Amino acid sequence: MTTHTIQISKRGGGYGFRCSCGEQPNRSHKHRRVVEGWAESHLATHKARSYAPEVIADSSGEFYGNAVRFPTAEEAEAYVADLAMRWTLVTATRVVESEDPPNYRWVNGTYERIDDV
Ligand SMILES: [Zn+2]
Repeated sequence: MTTHTIQISKRGGGYGFRCSCGEQPNRSHKHRRVVEGWAESHLATHKARSYAPEVIADSSGEFYGNAVRFPTAEEAEAYVADLAMRWTLVTATRVVESEDPPNYRWVNGTYERIDDV
């Protein structure tokens, strides 16, 4: 899962930022506020909109996902853990970021569809 954690630091007589995803603008700016603006728009561009559960459930060893998207990683993890418990073929699980809008949520130990998508 690619994470985006911004670090702002002094660079070349001004401020620059670097994201944990590796992205880093070449320019620096003397006003920290401007650099914070760049960092914010970077985050907005890359922000995951939802979290998708994926499992390995056959001998291919490849992760397979469905169309279920949760608004938080915690919910997707709860879902996929539950799935792995009930589906004995599952050998591995993971949660990946997705840019799809969330369409399910995890409530009281089960999942329900979000209608107003
Ligand atoms: Zn990033």
